[in-house]
Amino acid sequence: MHDAAAPLRAALKEHKLFIDGQYAPATSGKLFDKFSPVDGTLIARVHEAGLEDVDRAVKAARAALAGPWGRLTAKARCDLLLDLSQRIAARSDDFLEAEVADTGKPRKMAAELDIPRGAANFAVFADIIKNLGSEFYDTPTHDGLGAINYGVVRPKGVIGVISPWNLPLLLMTWKVGPALACGNTVVVKPSEETPATATLLGEVMNDVGIPPGVYNVIHGFGPGSAGEFLTRHPGVDGITLTGESRTGEAIMQAAAVGLRDVSFELGGKNAGIVFADADLDKAIEGTLRSAFLNSGQVCLGTERVYVERPLFEQFVARLKEGAEKLVIGAPGDPGVNLGPLISKEHQRKVLSYYEKAREQGATVVTGGGVPVFGDARDDGSFVEPTIWTGLAEDSAPIREEIFGPVCHIAPFDTEEEAVRLANDSEYGLAAAVWTENLARAHRVAPRLEVGIVWVNSWFLRDLRTAFGGSKRSGIGREGGVHSLEFYTERSNVCIKL
Ligand code: NAD
Repeated sequence: MHDAAAPLRAALKEHKLFIDGQYAPATSGKLFDKFSPVDGTLIARVHEAGLEDVDRAVKAARAALAGPWGRLTAKARCDLLLDLSQRIAARSDDFLEAEVADTGKPRKMAAELDIPRGAANFAVFADIIKNLGSEFYDTPTHDGLGAINYGVVRPKGVIGVISPWNLPLLLMTWKVGPALACGNTVVVKPSEETPATATLLGEVMNDVGIPPGVYNVIHGFGPGSAGEFLTRHPGVDGITLTGESRTGEAIMQAAAVGLRDVSFELGGKNAGIVFADADLDKAIEGTLRSAFLNSGQVCLGTERVYVERPLFEQFVARLKEGAEKLVIGAPGDPGVNLGPLISKEHQRKVLSYYEKAREQGATVVTGGGVPVFGDARDDGSFVEPTIWTGLAEDSAPIREEIFGPVCHIAPFDTEEEAVRLANDSEYGLAAAVWTENLARAHRVAPRLEVGIVWVNSWFLRDLRTAFGGSKRSGIGREGGVHSLEFYTERSNVCIKL
């Protein structure tokens, strides 16, 4: 019998907090369980930070700002981060094991995406900050002597980083990278579902010689736990979150006290638009990835596909064929494309949408259920990749973010209608446009009310570009020099000559 979790069970882990350069148990004395999404077995016991632990972490971060970290030149700081990036890459096997155990995602995906991007996030921002210029203005004055103005940036201070479980190391370092490059210190609250890689990163920080207190990790949940304690702590100067839109609302309320700044990367209900002039092979391959990668647990994923009517039937048939070829299974299973969802709770949520879609009259083109393996994986949190047609645009499965391996396909007749349908959402994170018509691509892309539009691609990211969402998908933009907006305070120096 297939025992998908055998290698995981061998290594029951205990994740402590990482505060001021040291691993420590939570003073709350509380621990919580982390279960494998692959077969439901217990894989880790995690220390849950109480108020006192969070306070200690924030104070350590503040002390480090005033200490050796704050005194480093930008170059010295960024050189340390470049070294950090290399050390993460050198320990990629350890990060890979940790990430795969927590998430159950295919090992190949984590090896090609999650871990290398986790390392790259430090290198990219170190390079950007090292090479940063400043604005300068020559200002005329009445006396003819003039004045000069130039901008300077300072770190914002202690940054609270709250991260999700879908791409744990990648999304956490996407915030810690720029935060540290800009000279801040951080207290990170990783998702309760994925505590491992954030904890492991503490070891590498110490190895590289990043001073104690610069990077701290507290574990726990959101409301009434470490997440809320961190966001309410007055010693935190700014809070950056990747998570659900309603979590953003809760954190914004906490941040209102003391008028602390926020940067939010939130949910999505992203559209793909396939025009009849698209290269069908490219559009199918891209939509298969955008709907099903990471079992649909990607904020940028496509859950609504609009296809120009002449291509509709053929597109549905081809996407079905592609979805049915995907291999579902444990991280190391041969040829596996789709792992489990993160937890039983999330599996219940996704299946509730499968149910709602059926009730609301969807045609289930493929999937709609739970795969049966006949082995230990049946205790995991798998669902089938699913395609629907025939739902009304105002139905819950079309309006709400599902965050599972599922998409709905609807036909459209005109470019105008496609733009209107794509924009008819409370969310505004990403969109993918499939067309071989250059003029159309340029016409349509800027009209989509989202943070990023891909044309004939998906999830192709240049980390120097602005990233974020509009509407309920976020506040602010991070990436490249745009990250300075949140991670620094800017002053103008005006000198009368
Ligand atoms: P989540 O909002 O449930 O949790 C995210 C983090 O917030 C976790 O660490 C959680 O413990 C913490 N948290 C929850 N409530 C809190 C509170 N009241 N105070 C403080 N902290 C709190 O999100 P998730 O389920 O982990 O991740 C999936 C969501 O993230 C989806 O909506 C997805 O679209 C979104 N996401 C967005 C992006 C993006 O770049 N826009 C990227 C990835 C994921």
